[in-house]
Amino acid sequence: KFSKDFGQHILKNPGVAQAIVDKAYLKPSDTGTGEVNYLVPIFSAADLSATRSYKSNITFLVLEVGPGTGNLTARILEKAKKVIAVELDPRMAAEVTKRFQTTALRNNLQILLGDVIKTELPPFDVCISNTPYQISSPLVFKLLSLPNPPRISVLMFQREFALRLTARPGDSLYCRLSVNAQFWAKITHIMKVGKNNFKPPPKVESSVVRIEPKMGSERPSVSWDEWDGMLRICFVRRSRTMRASWLGSKEILSMVERNYRVFCAMNNIALDDSVIGEEEEDEMEVDGGADEWNGIEEGDEMDDDTPAFFKEEAEKTARENGGKTKSKKKKTRVAELVREKIRKVLEDVTELADKRAGKCDENDFLRLLAAFNDEGIHFA
Ligand code: SAM
Repeated sequence: KFSKDFGQHILKNPGVAQAIVDKAYLKPSDTGTGEVNYLVPIFSAADLSATRSYKSNITFLVLEVGPGTGNLTARILEKAKKVIAVELDPRMAAEVTKRFQTTALRNNLQILLGDVIKTELPPFDVCISNTPYQISSPLVFKLLSLPNPPRISVLMFQREFALRLTARPGDSLYCRLSVNAQFWAKITHIMKVGKNNFKPPPKVESSVVRIEPKMGSERPSVSWDEWDGMLRICFVRRSRTMRASWLGSKEILSMVERNYRVFCAMNNIALDDSVIGEEEEDEMEVDGGADEWNGIEEGDEMDDDTPAFFKEEAEKTARENGGKTKSKKKKTRVAELVREKIRKVLEDVTELADKRAGKCDENDFLRLLAAFNDEGIHFA
């Protein structure tokens, strides 16, 4: 009955369900308002057959991701004025709709049928989810990068994913996700949840985590895209030194060069593009396979999207070189200039050249971004 593809593991322990909702500290003062314009079909709790698209100005509070059969939804409805639940599986959407159809709470519940990652979300105060593990990483990135992030998110994840969110520099699970999550939010590990609390039980243990985005003056005044774009390069392999990550891969050098050319074009900076030789292209290696540094095998569902991102970058470079991944590339003065700028940033300005990404803290990354930006090197 439950689909593995949709990550369906129904929470059967009422105590855990209640604790998740309690930890969101729903307040009676929560009154988010948002213009909603959905092109996806909607099931409303009052009308099972409704599949129209929907546009309206509504007041609501809680976004639930993946309501499933509604075990968490029921408890959220007791405390929240309005719940929007996004569910990918039409069978589950129908089930949860049926569950509340005859109750007084049905008008407080809106069910959107669709993929929460692809759905444009209205502003909401709180996000609650027993998260389908396939979307753990994109969901966290989405929640953190929203223009109006929810005040609190209480989310169930696989234990290892939760530990990545809270990992500190030097920890074996420290990765791009850890840096981003802790840079933009306060992350609290709330409780461990054993696999037998679910039906069917998943293969691994779980944990509930609270994410509270930094707001107002606490929110870093750095561009999300710049920051994350730079981190992707630093964490191509977290066991690598910065020098090796930045200067040891022609893919990355080409990408930085491409960005630098755009920056110069936009700022009317003339470049000496003369050719000074030829060099062989190499192939990129990114985190995703076994990691010899800390012995972790990265499970598919734990992966962030770095490998896919760099595959795209590699393809861009290949296109520039006439479709071949391995080819001779013309070496220009601009390429030399970019290489020298990176060397200067790593060795002279930040002195991070010999440090591994996995040991760098937030402050190191902030210094690095500022130094690159000073050299006209941007990542967005
Ligand atoms: N909330 C229920 C509970 O705690 O018992 C079910 C949780 S179950 C782990 C995850 C739910 O998310 C399933 O109902 C699944 O169909 C749904 N789901 C999976 N991928 C989704 C996506 N991309 N967007 C929205 N819902 C999704």
